[in-house]
Amino acid sequence: MTEAMSTSTPRLDIGTPEEAGQLGTVLGVWAHPDDETYLSSGLMALARRAGSQVACVTATRGEHGTDDPRRWPPERLARTRDLEVAAAMAVLGVEDHRCFGFEDGTLADQDRAAAVSRVARLVEDVRPDTIVTFGPEGMSGHHDHRTVSAWVTEAWRRTGARGRLLYATTTDTFAEEFADLHDAVGVFGPGLPLRTPLREVAVRVHLDPALQDVKFAALRAQATQVQPLVALVGEDRFISWWRNETFTAAPPVPGLRAAGDLQGSSRRSPSAAVQASG
Ligand SMILES: [Zn+2]
Repeated sequence: MTEAMSTSTPRLDIGTPEEAGQLGTVLGVWAHPDDETYLSSGLMALARRAGSQVACVTATRGEHGTDDPRRWPPERLARTRDLEVAAAMAVLGVEDHRCFGFEDGTLADQDRAAAVSRVARLVEDVRPDTIVTFGPEGMSGHHDHRTVSAWVTEAWRRTGARGRLLYATTTDTFAEEFADLHDAVGVFGPGLPLRTPLREVAVRVHLDPALQDVKFAALRAQATQVQPLVALVGEDRFISWWRNETFTAAPPVPGLRAAGDLQGSSRRSPSAAVQASG
């Protein structure tokens, strides 16, 4: 992003429910169970404490995310991850979690127009002031993550680019502080994690020690994914690794309302709390 872009988007630092309340109604759209918790659980928990509506959507059930498919055949893993993500949402106070139910690992092969329409209907239903999702690079580079980013961005534009679209990112500080860990664990693809300079960060959520514990509880609720990493990294370093959540703002769409406008409506759809299948 350019200097002009960064100066036009003053950073919102969030550490309290009052500050999170400025985000208004929040919609998160992610690919697999646990993406939402790693990248936005502090944001969601604080928004809920502010009394804001938070809807969180997962595109797949994460049923192929295992090195041991004999022990975890897809249907068993899907059932378990449904329970794990529900437990994580309970920890965070998020009552509206939905799943699109696409097959894990196949998002790039799905009918793009149909998927974008589905996300657009979701946006029309929830009417978020803030949408959070992956950036175009997909955080770790996973193709499902990149596809979700593209779907959400197109749906946001198609529905009038209302509110603010935020892309989860990581900072240069994060990349440097945990470089040894990233080399050892290999969760990020080539050229990643992103080294976004702080001046380009639009929203930063700082989790205090109590909120870090909430996030850790939500992550541990997703044991089939998180437990091996915690064992490898150690609890304290694992907690410290994810203690900040940072987001860049999607570029404004020419001719539409400024994407950074958080003072917009706080319209609430009466149907938004309904646990629609999406
Ligand atoms: Zn994922």
